[in-house]
Amino acid sequence: SYPIDVAAIREDFPVLGRKVGGDVSTPGEGPEDTEPLVYLDNAATSQTPKQVVDSIVDYYYGYNANVHRGIHQLSQEASVAYEEAHDRVADFIGAEGREEIVFTKNTTEAMNLVAYAWGLNELGPGDRVVLTEMEHHASLVTWQQLAKKTGAEVKYIRVDDEGRLDMEHAKALIDESTKMVSVVHVSNTLGTVNPVDELADMAHEVGAYIFVDGAQSVPTRPVDVGDIDADFLAFSGHKMLGPTGIGALYGKEHILEAMEPYLYGGDMIRKVTYEDATWEDLPWKFEAGTPNIAQGIGLHAAIDYLDDIGMDKVQAHEELLAEYAYDQLSEFDDIEIYGPPGDDRGGLVAFNLGSVHAHDLSSILNDYAVAVRAGDHCTQPLHDKLGAPASTRASFYIYNTREEIDALVEAIDGARELFA
Ligand code: PMP
Repeated sequence: SYPIDVAAIREDFPVLGRKVGGDVSTPGEGPEDTEPLVYLDNAATSQTPKQVVDSIVDYYYGYNANVHRGIHQLSQEASVAYEEAHDRVADFIGAEGREEIVFTKNTTEAMNLVAYAWGLNELGPGDRVVLTEMEHHASLVTWQQLAKKTGAEVKYIRVDDEGRLDMEHAKALIDESTKMVSVVHVSNTLGTVNPVDELADMAHEVGAYIFVDGAQSVPTRPVDVGDIDADFLAFSGHKMLGPTGIGALYGKEHILEAMEPYLYGGDMIRKVTYEDATWEDLPWKFEAGTPNIAQGIGLHAAIDYLDDIGMDKVQAHEELLAEYAYDQLSEFDDIEIYGPPGDDRGGLVAFNLGSVHAHDLSSILNDYAVAVRAGDHCTQPLHDKLGAPASTRASFYIYNTREEIDALVEAIDGARELFA
């Protein structure tokens, strides 16, 4: 049994009824699609339930209009729905209100927004940005390049042999020169769940801000910005049952208030003359131009779906599958798993099979209709440190089952025989 009703949940996801194995040149219906899809690539993107698609259809068929500007009824309806989506996100992560929620394209854009709107103005020579060795490129490359522009330095908190942060090293690095600590909450490669509340305390003690990369945590566990005392938090809708093209940046109101806009244009201004302009209230100051309206409405529906299940239960299901997968894969001497033990990780397992390249392995797994990720998972420096150019990652979500993990193990067996 499971903490959640997986069988009922699967009914809401038409794609999970798909078979694969055919010709990829005819998407959705390869001529020889015979094998039931085993979708274990949820850390890359999750599948979308009918309820979310329906909310988008309802918008396009019922009240498609631009927001903020219109007096006519459709525009008002769209505006209300779009604004309520901000309220829903705020409520979901324990923010004060919509002022603290900026819709972005994804986690990456939220990072860049803060790097440019805050970092470009606030960082200079002598300032330090502290990251971790397990950061996703979304934060690693963004702060690295911003440091180059501003003369600030970037330091990385060490990852130990078990895939955890060296908190003594963190304490040493987060010093008086530190202005920003940007840390991934749940690592998309190691599965490590980082103690972001402790890191927030360390950052605040020296007057620095903490930016929590919630791309893998917000979809899979309860996250409350008050509990972890995050100054910024970012996540992507497409990893939590929502559509692509929508993500959110949370920022404490007083910090966002003090920040300059990132993008200029329509919808973010209050008064414009030929000489100057003033800005709209939060969060609209950071949402220039026509936003992703349908996607915001879809994100609202996705959060409703997750909340109906309960994030505690979502987390319990993730942990159950992570531990099961870890235990199954640990049975084999030729499989190296990266990151902490199975009973202490988020819902993903990255590994290598002997000297088989991850791309070759996942290509064989694909023959068995098992969809996993192969590559560096946007953590190239971490993979260099692990001494592996790439890894294969299986990642789980609310609709996955133990049987699907068994199918993964069976497919690996097949690959093992082939490569022997
Ligand atoms: N951070 C982490 C930890 C992630 O897993 C991802 C997605 N792989 C991102 C950031 C970037 O998310 P997006 O591509 O939606 O911007």
